[in-house]
Amino acid sequence: MADVSSLARRLAAIREQIDGAATRAGRLADEVQLIAVSKTQPIEIVRTAIAAGARDLGENRVQEAEAKITALGSNASRWHLIGPLQANKARRAVKLFDVVHTVDSIALAQRLDRLCQEEDRAALPVLIQLSLANEATKSGAPEAELAPLVRTVNQSEHLRLIGLMTVPPYDDDPERTRPYFRRLRELRDVLASNGEFAGAAGELSMGMSHDFPVAIEEGATMVRVGTAIFGERQ
Ligand SMILES: *Cc1c(COP(=O)(O)O)cnc(C)c1O
Repeated sequence: MADVSSLARRLAAIREQIDGAATRAGRLADEVQLIAVSKTQPIEIVRTAIAAGARDLGENRVQEAEAKITALGSNASRWHLIGPLQANKARRAVKLFDVVHTVDSIALAQRLDRLCQEEDRAALPVLIQLSLANEATKSGAPEAELAPLVRTVNQSEHLRLIGLMTVPPYDDDPERTRPYFRRLRELRDVLASNGEFAGAAGELSMGMSHDFPVAIEEGATMVRVGTAIFGERQ
């Protein structure tokens, strides 16, 4: 069961794998943030995860996250929106989330900027989500739209571009996912050398339970891990 010690144990096991992957890649484990993906988990389990040391929480639905953030607060934790954001949920997302990983259209970027203005939010850190497999059904902008999206975000008043995010097509074999991770890093490196990221080198939000070690080998700085921490979702 998901008591504090079992969740703490699983978090420790993931952090150990993060360490191992970072070491293999000649990187520091500190460069990798673990985002515990708490979507579908009840509030009490998320509370327990926070008590067990989870600091960054990932949610994919605004409405579901609202209940959790309202109940658990955002002092001890940072909340990341990792799911697609519909226009009619954007205002609540601006009020609730610390970071939005899923900016994938110019219209959404402009809307978020305007809502920050209306909600008196000085700055909203965002990542641009790319769909690198050109799957029409996947969320994320195609690579060809990256440049205009970056321009829109960086010309906005309130959005702070902090990195890129992707969810590659699912494959049981993470080695087949590696090229997508590598491509995202290449794109990040080009943007970073052009000084497009607010402050730092540019985050790479990539890697989930079954493939985060490979993502870290390819440069991930934010891994989004759900099942490996909380068990299978209902
Ligand atoms: C659900 C989800 C995850 C976590 O997936 P697991 O396989 O449970 O680790 C990561 N990223 C996104 C965008 C998700 O929707």
